Amino acid sequence: MNPGSTPRALIIGGSIGGLLSAILLRAIGWRVDVFERSPHALDSRGGGIVLQADVLHAFRFAGIRHGTLGVASGDRIFLDQAGDVLQRTWQPQTQTSWNMLYQTMRRALPDDCVHPGAALARVEQAADQVRAHFANGRSEAGDLLVGADGARSTVRAQLLPDLAPAYAGYVAWRGLVPEPDLDPASRALLAGVFAFQQGDDHMLLEYLVPGEDGATQAGRRRWNWVWYRKVDAALLPALLTDRDGHPHAFSLPPGALPEARARALRADADAHLAPPFRALVHGTTEPFIQAILDLAAPRMVFGRIVLLGDAASVPRPHTAGGTAKAAANALALAQALQRTEAPIERRLQAWEAEQLRAGRAMTDRGRAMGDRIMGIDRPA
Ligand SMILES: Cc1cc2nc3c(=O)[nH]c(=O)nc-3n(C[C@H](O)[C@H](O)[C@H](O)COP(=O)(O)OP(=O)(O)OC[C@H]3O[C@@H](n4cnc5c(N)ncnc54)[C@H](O)[C@@H]3O)c2cc1C
Repeated sequence: MNPGSTPRALIIGGSIGGLLSAILLRAIGWRVDVFERSPHALDSRGGGIVLQADVLHAFRFAGIRHGTLGVASGDRIFLDQAGDVLQRTWQPQTQTSWNMLYQTMRRALPDDCVHPGAALARVEQAADQVRAHFANGRSEAGDLLVGADGARSTVRAQLLPDLAPAYAGYVAWRGLVPEPDLDPASRALLAGVFAFQQGDDHMLLEYLVPGEDGATQAGRRRWNWVWYRKVDAALLPALLTDRDGHPHAFSLPPGALPEARARALRADADAHLAPPFRALVHGTTEPFIQAILDLAAPRMVFGRIVLLGDAASVPRPHTAGGTAKAAANALALAQALQRTEAPIERRLQAWEAEQLRAGRAMTDRGRAMGDRIMGIDRPA
């Protein structure tokens, strides 16, 4: 880094962790470029997300202007299979959606610093410079490289080649249903609550999220559901093969599920779920699936390369904390880089120690919660 020159960060991955890092580093005066493998805008991706304070803190630090970001719920209710309410507790929170956060962040970044269709191939670094080489032959140099490229991070694979995400033994079936599409009785029961059904070895949860256009008014929102179900590891490759016969590693996006699997999902819903949840599964035109993973990298800093978000550790979704953790990683990174009293290496090490500790606490808690919910006994 030349004294007096504007430092430059190369950010790999243009999802939540990558865009937030870019916005926060720009806020402290860095030049940023985001390189995203996908050639398309990502805003049709993803489902509901519980809105956590870490995301709002990061938005505030970066001066991101936003309107209402989510839909509030009050009670948590647990239904039995007949649809009767077994338990009701007051536990208010706000739910948003992946595309609402994505669009809010994307609007805060100028177009010329986001580069779609740029897949990182490898990185190399000298004493105070990092160089990224992309699959399309492009190469870029910067003062820092942020690996925000998700659970199957290319950056991490180069730096920690023996570390890979481990399948936790169950998957999340997910879907979104436009608010008016649900029958009146189900709407009356589910509106304004965070609803669950806990089975012996499965669990469904549901809450309202903003509409695809970000609308939060009644009638324009979407019902978001997640159904955790055990799947034997040996059966996973067939389950994650899309309608064109292509295998996927850990997820099938909306629109990729073969029709026969969607039919089987609806039949399983009829066999196991409460009536309003059955209606949600039947009302979903494009159900999608994500394998639940465990991953915790032992390091996040490698000279001038850092890992954050899911590239560094993947908490189970029961923590509702993956996005919050990515936001906390990125905010703390910007705050560490903003202070200039110590050499950058020392500041990055201090950042790493704190973020590793918090990440480990979240992944440990998520494992314990997920195994308990799914009735999984693991040898200690
Ligand atoms: C079922 C489920 C429910 C969840 N619910 C919640 C919730 O309620 N609350 C919550 O906070 N979190 C939730 N999460 C987790 C959350 O989605 C992530 O933790 C969060 O979005 C952080 O993601 P990320 O940006 O680090 O990685 P990702 O979103 O995986 O993004 C990585 C990006 O990097 C790109 N990329 C990959 N490789 C390359 C490459 N070589 N070159 C360039 N680009 C590349 C990818 O295309 C992608 O866009 C849930 C997850 C699951 C599975």
